[in-house]
Amino acid sequence: MPQKQDYYETLGLRRGATEDEIRKAYRRLARKFHPDLNPGDKAAEERFKHLSEAHEVLGDAKKKAVYDQHGFYSENMQGGPPGSHPGPGQPHMDFSGFDFTDMFGAPKDEQAGQPNSRFGDLFGQFFGRAQQRRSEPQRGSDLEYALNVDFWRAVKGTQARLTIQRHETCGACRGSGAAGSNNIVCPQCNGSGNVTQQAGAMKFNLTCPKCEGSGRLRNVCTACHGEGRTTAGDQVEVKLPAGVKPGDRLRVAHKGNAGTLGGPPGDLYITVNVEPHPFFEREGEDLHIKVPVTVWEAALGTKLEVPTVEGKALLKIPQGTQNEQKFRLRDKGIYNQRKDKRGDLIVEIAVQAPLARDERSREILRELAQLHPEDPRSDMWSKI
Ligand SMILES: [Zn+2]
Ligand SMILES: [Zn+2]
Repeated sequence: MPQKQDYYETLGLRRGATEDEIRKAYRRLARKFHPDLNPGDKAAEERFKHLSEAHEVLGDAKKKAVYDQHGFYSENMQGGPPGSHPGPGQPHMDFSGFDFTDMFGAPKDEQAGQPNSRFGDLFGQFFGRAQQRRSEPQRGSDLEYALNVDFWRAVKGTQARLTIQRHETCGACRGSGAAGSNNIVCPQCNGSGNVTQQAGAMKFNLTCPKCEGSGRLRNVCTACHGEGRTTAGDQVEVKLPAGVKPGDRLRVAHKGNAGTLGGPPGDLYITVNVEPHPFFEREGEDLHIKVPVTVWEAALGTKLEVPTVEGKALLKIPQGTQNEQKFRLRDKGIYNQRKDKRGDLIVEIAVQAPLARDERSREILRELAQLHPEDPRSDMWSKI
């Protein structure tokens, strides 16, 4: 069986590409996938084989004409010498001398409008359809965007406006890709979707290459070149719920790419990135903050004003509070709208030693030291 390969597609070209375009496309791709440049890469090797095969046919005016007409090419079709060798993987079919129209009934011309004749079916099985039909509506693809959100806006919830590039349904043709409301009958097959080809003495039916078997041709919309959609910048309003976290993914339904031929649009997904705060750190719905206190505040105990999501809160620290000691302020963390739950605020104490640059301060501290001869490291030595 031959490879079901669209040579134009292989070269990344549209049907009807010029000789020059074919040559350039082949050179560019062959350079990229050449086995010498991709040692051991099986996929590249396969790709290179396909490229060579496509170029062998499309790069040759005679073979290209046959391919364009039939949707495939085989050495036997050119009326080469009898018994000429078929290409690798191609069936050797030599029908010269047979008139299939006698065997399979009336010639094609008399059965216009009917499905493929029996020979057409047989042929279709051998070669597969030359081209896939593109007439099915398809859902548009999803889009992914990242959104940076300021710390407080993420905590409190916010509205964000995003400019995205998306495929939109073409306004000129309302997504059909066709100009005007009427399709026209394909002139090549007169609407039957099949064409009769004669090669030597044999006649057979093929799917019409011009209309791909549909029997109709579209007047192509000039605004979208038949795609049914155009690319445009779009403004999307996104509502971020309070408590949105870094890495949260929000779905905005139907704001992805437009579908083709009237297919439904895809969705837009927004991944949230929350900018860090200079003092607050987040852990789920809990907030952490380090609050500096003086030695005497820690030693004597005091009331501290600490910042929270909703203004200031009062925190009482007891006598003899130690460095790195933590205090939990219940329900003073982040409110999560989706969980309807509020986290806590965890305050860590950072005791700061006084610099004591003046003699009077040093005097007081030395006095204090005499009042407290205990060694904070004694415990350490006893355990080593
Ligand atoms: Zn259009
Ligand atoms: Zn046709």
